[in-house]
Amino acid sequence: MAQKIQAVRGMNDVLPAESYQWEYFESVMRGLLADYGYQNIRTPIVEQTPLFVRSIGEVTDIVEKEMYSFTDSLNGESLTLRPEGTAGTLRAAVEHNLLYNATQRLWYQGAMFRHERPQKGRYRQFHQFGVEALGFAGPDIDAELIALTADLWRRLGLADSVELQINTLGNREERAAHRVALIAYLEGFQSILDEDGKRRLYSNPLRVLDTKNPALQEMCDAAPRLLDYLGSESRAQYEGWKAMIAALGIPFRENPRLVRGLDYYNHSVFEWVTTELGAQGTVCAGGRYDGLTEQLGGKPAPGIGFGMGIERVLLLLQDKQLLPAAPAPDVYLVQQGEGAPVYALTLAQALRRAGLSVLQHCGDGSFKSQMKKADACGAAFAVIVGENEVSAATAIVKSLRSEAEQQTVAVAGVADAIAALKV
Ligand code: ATP
Ligand code: MG
Repeated sequence: MAQKIQAVRGMNDVLPAESYQWEYFESVMRGLLADYGYQNIRTPIVEQTPLFVRSIGEVTDIVEKEMYSFTDSLNGESLTLRPEGTAGTLRAAVEHNLLYNATQRLWYQGAMFRHERPQKGRYRQFHQFGVEALGFAGPDIDAELIALTADLWRRLGLADSVELQINTLGNREERAAHRVALIAYLEGFQSILDEDGKRRLYSNPLRVLDTKNPALQEMCDAAPRLLDYLGSESRAQYEGWKAMIAALGIPFRENPRLVRGLDYYNHSVFEWVTTELGAQGTVCAGGRYDGLTEQLGGKPAPGIGFGMGIERVLLLLQDKQLLPAAPAPDVYLVQQGEGAPVYALTLAQALRRAGLSVLQHCGDGSFKSQMKKADACGAAFAVIVGENEVSAATAIVKSLRSEAEQQTVAVAGVADAIAALKV
């Protein structure tokens, strides 16, 4: 026998036993996004590498070590499997002039790729739902994104399982002033900084504070706070956002250490966090990125968005047993005998046209084994046809989930008989 080929490490199959859970989540999400007036955008999975380097930033985990990049052997271009969705969405918005005298409320969904160490809630191919609201200066739209995500948790039954954390990163000048003070402060701790900290001290000092190393917590807690470097405009933006979230009645916690891993953020940043998934506790993360369209060669336009890890939300829904039962067909069509396969095929089509979902038995099998299958698949009804039914133009309708007597009805009356039994 030939050797089996396995999936790539950290890239998972979603089998039917679980895929309906994805479909459930996707349908809730689509309904939500429609209710808020967001439109879908679909961009390629592969982009030119410089798009990500320029937007995400050279000194970030993603660009430093997580990207799947390769050279296109035909023309030597460096291409990358997208590690996140904002860069591609903004590239498309700029390329197609979507922001010319217009604002956009966009959403995307799809696979993202990062070369990380696979563990629970962390994979090399993972999936995100994301939203980008472009052309709005905020803070009202910033609050809309909080309202939208809070609404999602409510619809899924997760409102008590996640906490909203918010922070502001100010504008570029304020960050630069804070950066000088932060570097000076961190230089005093050279001897205790870990390898990541040393590496980021001058390139991305804000991220030194993003460490999970417990030995550095005291140092981080006493570090100069960006909040103290904000001017009146940034402060007003932040206060306005907070007031709106409070007016919506959504509880939140200010976390001055929330910095986000990507370079392009400014002003509002937020995360929805759970304590129930171990270290992979962030289920949704977002923020404002007002300079990004310009950085990508477009006209200046403000923007804010978030990305949500679908696998992490599903893990939470599974843990909390908040997922619906696997869907089952209305009818399993049992058929055996002379003329039954053709008779069953046309009957199944008629039932589907009448609005029922029908799983038709294909191939051989005794009535007994077919009835077992009907039961196992969770169907509400079995419709049974044998030689007698074929010659009499009838079918037997049997409820599989109630004590109702089975009945023989005219073939044209099967859908009506099922409808009568359903109520
Ligand atoms: P983390 O700190 O967990 O590495 P991140 O800051 O790298 O997260 P973002 O780039 O903000 O994550 O991505 C948004 C969301 O996508 C995350 O909050 C998370 O839910 C999800 N996510 C990110 N990386 C992965 C991954 N490797 N596997 C599964 N989900 C992921
Ligand atoms: Mg990461």
